[in-house]
Amino acid sequence: MNVILLGPPGAGKGTQAQRLEERRGLKHLSTGDMLRAAAASGSAIGREIKGIMDRGALVPDEVIVRMIADRIGEPDCAQGVLLDGFPRTVGQAEALDGILSQRGLKLDRVIQLTVDNDAVVDRIGGRFSCKACGTGYHDRYRPTAKAGICDKCGGTEFLRRSDDQPETVRARLEAYERQTAPLLPYYQARGVLREVDGMASIDDVTKQMDRLLSAA
Ligand code: ADP
Ligand code: ADP
Ligand code: ZN
Repeated sequence: MNVILLGPPGAGKGTQAQRLEERRGLKHLSTGDMLRAAAASGSAIGREIKGIMDRGALVPDEVIVRMIADRIGEPDCAQGVLLDGFPRTVGQAEALDGILSQRGLKLDRVIQLTVDNDAVVDRIGGRFSCKACGTGYHDRYRPTAKAGICDKCGGTEFLRRSDDQPETVRARLEAYERQTAPLLPYYQARGVLREVDGMASIDDVTKQMDRLLSAA
């Protein structure tokens, strides 16, 4: 089964993908994580990518499409993928159609997580993640069980993203409205789009998504 999680920054895509990956045996592919890894490598292209991300803009379609095309071919994706943060433009969605059909695969579901803009700003403002295992947390909505210790791996170092500043968040929301929201009618027309209320609690959102995927 191949699934896309669609929604503005802070909607809860990564949080839900981490949970669904474990429950459903799908490989979670986050283009944001892949790009952050490339940026951290310090190469010339990495520095260019970091500059774009810190402005809240999108990296060029060619870069991202090549990355995903290569990654989907790896053996750990054979049971299906949970795409988080990709596609983000109609051009990327068209490229994904080609990548999947070339491999004889299909897109089963696109799950849209809807959230208010105010919630987005509040969620992103408190977001952090474990440096060692990447598990995502929130200062108020999803704190670690024990202060300063990752629930999953026991790690004690945490990261906050350099693009999670209020001005950059505004630019990212604009990019979502202008470049990514057109994917909603694109997938609606194909009959694969389903909506989930992203304002519900983390557990309730997981339940709603689980139900949709079981019915797919
Ligand atoms: P969020 O989880 O807040 O939606 P991501 O981690 O998915 O953010 O993405 C962070 C940044 O990485 C984006 O603002 C953009 O610069 C870049 N990025 C991630 N995925 C894509 C993509 N599919 N196309 C272009 N840029 C992307
Ligand atoms: P995205 O990947 O869509 O950018 P994240 O999954 O990183 O979003 O979630 C953004 C922040 O909001 C994180 O700190 C996360 O712990 C928190 N969060 C996610 N889902 C919810 C929810 N349903 N209610 C409250 N906070 C949430
Ligand atoms: Zn951890």
